[in-house]
Parts: sequence; C-alpha cells; structure tokens
Amino acid sequence: MGSLRDCTWILGLAEYRVTGLDRQDGRLVIELERRGVRRYVCSGCSRRTGRVRDAKVRTWDDLPWAEHPVTLRYPLRRLWCRQCGIRTERVGFADPHARLTRRFQQRIGLDCQSMPTSHAAMRHAVSWGTARRAERAFLDALDRTRPKRRPRHLGADEIQRGKGQQFWTVLSDLVRGEVIGLAKDRSEDSLRTLLTTRLEARQRAAVEAVCTDMHRPYLNAVAKVLDRAEIVFDKFHVLQHASAALDEMRRQEFFRAGAAMREHGRGKRWLLLRRWKTLGGSKRTALQTLFAANRRLFKAYVLREQLDRLWSYKTRTGVLNFLLGWIDALRWQRLPEMERLGDFLFRHVEGIAAYADHPVRFGVVESINTTIKAVLRRARGMRDETMLVLKLKWATARPIRSARDVVRFLHPQSAHSLR
Ligand SMILES: [Zn+2]
Repeated sequence: MGSLRDCTWILGLAEYRVTGLDRQDGRLVIELERRGVRRYVCSGCSRRTGRVRDAKVRTWDDLPWAEHPVTLRYPLRRLWCRQCGIRTERVGFADPHARLTRRFQQRIGLDCQSMPTSHAAMRHAVSWGTARRAERAFLDALDRTRPKRRPRHLGADEIQRGKGQQFWTVLSDLVRGEVIGLAKDRSEDSLRTLLTTRLEARQRAAVEAVCTDMHRPYLNAVAKVLDRAEIVFDKFHVLQHASAALDEMRRQEFFRAGAAMREHGRGKRWLLLRRWKTLGGSKRTALQTLFAANRRLFKAYVLREQLDRLWSYKTRTGVLNFLLGWIDALRWQRLPEMERLGDFLFRHVEGIAAYADHPVRFGVVESINTTIKAVLRRARGMRDETMLVLKLKWATARPIRSARDVVRFLHPQSAHSLR
C-alpha cells in the first residue's frame, strides 16, 4: 500500500487518477489527471473532443481524508468545440463554476437538513455563504430529478407566518405526504397560481379530491382550476368549530351564572376540549364532576363526541342521515350554540360527506403542518422563499431513510448527481 494507485482507489473518482500528493498550509493537495483516452467533454454540448486549446490549473475542495482538509488540483482544459467554439471541459465530479466537489456539496447540503446552516458551515470549515450555496445546489438537483407524480388527493392549507395575521398557503400531495408548493398569502389567487404553476395539466387531471378548510377563497380557486376535483373538508377544522361551540357553552353556563358556578367552571376549558378517549382516569373524574354540576354541558359534550361518526360512513346518504338525526336530537334541548353548530354542519354537509367517496388522509395533513413548523423553527425565520420550499419538500419527502440511501446520495456516480 502507499502507491499513487492506492490513492486513486481511495479518492474514488471514476475517470481520474492521482498523480501526486502535496501538503500546503495544513491541507492535503491532490493532483489529478484524466485516465485513458485524451478526449474531453465540452461543457456546452456534452460532445467529446480531443482538440485542446490550453489548460489552466483549477482547484476544488473535497471531502477530508482523515483529519486533513483536501484540495483537488486538476488542469482544466479549454477545448475547440465544433458546435460551441472555445469552451472549458466538463469534469465529472463538480458542477460548472463550483469550488467544491459535488459529493462535498451534497454532504454539506445533507447536514443542513438536520442542523442550522451556520452549524453545518462550521462543521465543514467553510463560510456560511458557501454552505448555503452548497445546500441550494444539493436541493435543486434533488428537486429536478424527482419524478413528477400525479397526485390523487391534494391538501390546501394555511400556515401562520410569524405573529399576527400573515399566512402561507401550502399545497401538498396527501397520498405521498409531500409539500408541492408554497405561496405568500391565503387568497384565491395564490392557490390558483400554485395549482397552475406547480402542477402540469397532466397532473391536475389526476386530482380527484382536495382537502381543505372552509376558507371561501380556496374553494373558489379549486372550483376554477380543477373542474373534476371535489372538496373534502378537513376533519380537524370541522371539529374545531364543534369545540368552539362547546367552549362558548361553557362560558354561557358557568361565567354568566354567578360567582359560585364560575368557580366551578374555572380552568376546565382544556378539559372540555380534550376528547374523552384521550383522557386518563383522574381527568375523567374531574370532567364527570363538572357534568354533575351542569347537565346541559354534559349533553353538549356527548353531542360533540358523537360527531366523530360523521367520518365513519361509507356512503354520503349515511352521513346525511346521521347528521339529520344529530340535529333532530337537539330539538327541545335549548342548546343554541349546538343548534348553530348543526346549521353550520348542515350547510357544509356536502364537503363533509365527500369523505365517504374520497377517504383523504387527515393524519397526513397534520403531520405536514408539524414538519413545516419544525423546519421554520430550525431556520429561525427564513427570508428566501424558494429555499424554504425546497427545504420543505426535502423534509416531507424524506428521501433518506437508511444508511444505504446516504451512500446512494453521496456517491459521486449516483443517479441523483448525474445530469
Ligand atoms: Zn460544444
């Protein structure tokens, strides 16, 4: 061991061999040369040519060897190309104009997905800007090479941006659980632009259902762009309305009924809003005590718990019959908040019942939202919107799930890195 041939093997760049090693300012400098036939690839048209005009030594930073940072040195040729005129040759291990090898870029880019850019930059001893550019190249390459799937179910949701009334509209593929695009507010225009620019006509035609909340602009946008798709209301949002009605009742019953009752109802809000099945023994007892003091609240709570069944039917008629029965049970109960909720549900029954035909994955909607919030938190407020979308796509698509995936990603000859 110890020959230049072994160094070539360790370096592992398919078409290049090591011609010398050197030490400079604590760095390991590796001299490279092409092996085999002297025909070079034109960076303009990818044709091979042997007509070399001149050569200029260029350097690229590469993955470290043990503790030593590595610089690659290679005489980059300028070629006479019949098609393009004078052009530089294309090297297999780096993008044009990049100062890092592709595998080094990918390593930094990969690290940036699980730590802030500044940490990744420190870890690889590069500047913040270099790390950010590497990450961008890494994510761009991934996005370009991903297959364009035809999503059956889409999700359109709003996410709060910072504090106050600012929102993102997030469009996602609910079958695969991946973010497709992001737009700055929650208007009809922003969703329509997302649907038309992020999806090709071929992809739009495949959409059968869009899961969204009852936000009117979204409904309009879907109706205009996707004529075949149906709206399915997000279960979480529907049940939020039910919880709001229940909470309003609690306020009515306890807080406007004198000091003694008020003491009874204080601090019980979260208890009421939790689902019965998620409550432990002592919490159930606490809730039962509350109900013993007020039967009307008990009735309302039971009614809300029953609403779960709206999503258990296999036919739309089943859903409608259940809802009519539910509204019917309210008669003579004098529960105005619940009656208002019944009206509301009845007005939106079409979108609720559509679930019977299009069982979209509500859990995916939730998990995408959680992922988005986690990415935003780690980025500590991202100003670059394109970058944010790329990061979100990565985080939701999760293309790396095993050690073998990492190898596939970081290997310079992997399918992912080939253009
Ligand atoms: Zn050319």
